[in-house]
Amino acid sequence: MVSGKSKELLDSTIEILRLLKYIGFKEVDDDLVSFSPFDELKEQIKNCTKCGLHKTRKNAVFGKGPIDAKIMLIGEAPGMEEDIQGVPFVGKAGRKLDSILSEAGIDIDQIFITNVVKCRPPGNRNPEPYEIMKCNPYLVKQIQVIRPRVIVLLGNIALSLVTGTAGGITKMRGKTLEYMSCPAIPTFHPAYILRNPGSEKIVIEDFKKALGIIQ
Ligand code: URA
Repeated sequence: MVSGKSKELLDSTIEILRLLKYIGFKEVDDDLVSFSPFDELKEQIKNCTKCGLHKTRKNAVFGKGPIDAKIMLIGEAPGMEEDIQGVPFVGKAGRKLDSILSEAGIDIDQIFITNVVKCRPPGNRNPEPYEIMKCNPYLVKQIQVIRPRVIVLLGNIALSLVTGTAGGITKMRGKTLEYMSCPAIPTFHPAYILRNPGSEKIVIEDFKKALGIIQ
């Protein structure tokens, strides 16, 4: 594995080659620029054993969406369906999220969706602070690579990344916070909306607000 200064040099060389290709240099071979900064991170997450969640997971769930997404959604943790498929938000909450995004006029293929922790906590319990702490460098790296223009924090666990304390979504939604120098909008988790359908309208408004930031 390449690391340290050599890795930095390799990354910037790839960036330069991509730029040359972009501006029309046909001599730049596709194979040289097809390497994604996510390839290595995906491998690390897939093989991660930094906390106990790896013992019970079927699949670690990296996230989905384009690497240059302007909007990034951060959920809590994979559930049963996500653990089986290795893809975030594919269960009931995911279907609710899809319909909210469509109501808000956001194209699902334009956003990057991931979770605070990449492995399913047994029985869908909340991730513990230790698990969140161990997994956080992966999320930080994803944000550094994607550099979204706005982040939507889905529910209390994602909100706790910003506040450092548990809970508070009811009080904090409606505000615009900041996470890693990026505007961060806290809103209710789709699973909460399934239990409290009356909250759906304001969540759609929160997503429209996110869309307003990137337009
Ligand atoms: N809930 C989450 O927070 N994330 C998922 O990926 C699925 C359900």
